Amino acid sequence: MVRAERVCKNFGAVKVLKGISLDVQRGQVTCLIGPSGSGKSTFLRCINHLERVDAGRLYVDGDLVGYAERGGKLHELHPRNAAKQRRDIGMVFQHFNLFPHRTVLGNIIEAPMLVKKMRREHAVDRARDLLDRVGLAEKADAYPAQLSGGQQQRVAIARALAMEPKLMLFDEPTSALDPELVGEVLAVMRDLAAAGMTMVVVTHEMGFAREVADQLVFMDGGVVVESGRPSEVLSNPQHERTRGFLSRLL
Ligand code: ADP
Ligand code: MG
Repeated sequence: MVRAERVCKNFGAVKVLKGISLDVQRGQVTCLIGPSGSGKSTFLRCINHLERVDAGRLYVDGDLVGYAERGGKLHELHPRNAAKQRRDIGMVFQHFNLFPHRTVLGNIIEAPMLVKKMRREHAVDRARDLLDRVGLAEKADAYPAQLSGGQQQRVAIARALAMEPKLMLFDEPTSALDPELVGEVLAVMRDLAAAGMTMVVVTHEMGFAREVADQLVFMDGGVVVESGRPSEVLSNPQHERTRGFLSRLL
């Protein structure tokens, strides 16, 4: 579903991604871990067209992200075609980013109606199903400010799912939550994984990574230091940098 080949990203003179190579299989969960500043968010943002790759190649479901290849050369995609690629990718951020002036239902139906031209009744029906799925059926008419952080994040997940993405990206989805609210969000993500969604999750929740991830990737300084099955990486890290990071976490 995702293939990164030596992906590089610079901000001015600062090299942030220095050749990331990584595969994510369809239906699998990849957890990305690494110290602050190692480039995890930037990598997710490249997948989701929020940043442009400077070198290397990034594919989602076989399509080159943001570019078309003609005669061996890369040409930037027309914004319309880039937007089409992006539509199939859901992203959930640390800080929920719900529209504060819309109800929960309003947040969820907006993109399907606007982008997919879905009829309102149909969008509402589907939104109610999604709210049920994240355990918030009774909150349809609430405003974000009336919800706890965990509830807001579950709405954000439902909102992303409303676009029927083939890939879900999560950037530290529980890092802004009070500890007692982390579990309810991870439970929704666990259900999503069990239902076969392809997911890339930046997280510090090692319990989640160990139980749910098929692949654990440790990044540091803009490179993938090591990756493998979570049980292997966590119990038998091959690199000193991985060992150091994990020992500071635990
Ligand atoms: P992580 O998510 O692993 O903490 P980030 O991808 O957010 O790391 O950031 C990696 C590095 O890139 C950091 O040094 C950060 O300061 C830098 N960076 C991220 N976004 C920008 C930007 N828009 N402009 C300049 N530097 C940036
Ligand atoms: Mg980050």
